[in-house]
Amino acid sequence: VVRRLAVLLLPCACASVARAPDDGGPAWSRGDAAHLYVETDLGASGARALARDLELWRLAMTAALFDRARPPSDRLDVIALRIGELGALSPSLDGACGRLSAQEAPTLVLGPNRPDDRAEIMRHELAHAVVDENLNGVPRWLNEGLASLLGTAELDESTGVVSWGRLEIHGAHIYHYDLAPLDDVLDDVWPAYDMARYEFSSAYVVRMLAAEHPHELQCLLEHLVGTDGYAPAVEACFPDRRAWADEYAREQFRKDATVGHVQLDLRSIDDTVTVRSMSDAEVHAALARLDDVVASTLPMNDERRSELKDAADKQRARAAALGASTPSR
Ligand SMILES: [Zn+2]
Repeated sequence: VVRRLAVLLLPCACASVARAPDDGGPAWSRGDAAHLYVETDLGASGARALARDLELWRLAMTAALFDRARPPSDRLDVIALRIGELGALSPSLDGACGRLSAQEAPTLVLGPNRPDDRAEIMRHELAHAVVDENLNGVPRWLNEGLASLLGTAELDESTGVVSWGRLEIHGAHIYHYDLAPLDDVLDDVWPAYDMARYEFSSAYVVRMLAAEHPHELQCLLEHLVGTDGYAPAVEACFPDRRAWADEYAREQFRKDATVGHVQLDLRSIDDTVTVRSMSDAEVHAALARLDDVVASTLPMNDERRSELKDAADKQRARAAALGASTPSR
């Protein structure tokens, strides 16, 4: 999850809650790509662009993760909101990826609070979805490290080549000497006031492994496809970690920072994206999933959590009253 410092997010009258058209909100559109669909109030062209870009990044990240990573059996469900609409539900949230039950496909919610953040947040949260689809028992450092590293992915539109690893262009808010200590990053408990630094630091751990210990990293990822968990995987794949601290400290000074690239066929992606407008019932069903995912990011004892759960139930009831079935996957 990407979180921003709360101080940057002054309460803002301009941020309104996402609404269905029959509540006076804008029209919603759905963009379909081969492995996902996007439901959004950003208009038909927004739906098309998001479905195309998310499909593209997702294929790139699946290929980037490891050789046997597979596209998921279920299509990813994406809800993309206008600037500030997600912040109106949960002020520190720019994006979230959650599944409502183990049986259901993950829902990815994207709602940046500033327009400049959209692309990076989209890639970061999408990377979490790809990790979630392929791996089990992923420790925090690996999950956030992979998401932050893959969040740096850049596309050359002329060649279809996607490359990643250039952390410095995204880390303007982090000073070079300010990485968190390695042992603390590898710990699963991160200090709540320092999440951004720990996320960023974990990206350097993963990039260091990708550059210095690629076979060990591949071994770890392959083990996590199974359900044995993290500890046996570490034992099998990382017999000796003594060099890590020095290598991690040096990683921020690496000159050639691109750690990987994949080639995509952009035209075949563009040709398969379709867009249509959504019924009010479909919008209410989408808003119900939105409320549920945002609720799942909040602590159990947060009263906003039960408010959002109630709101989700109301949206679901309205969708049902309008005769909605859940959208096909
Ligand atoms: Zn994250």
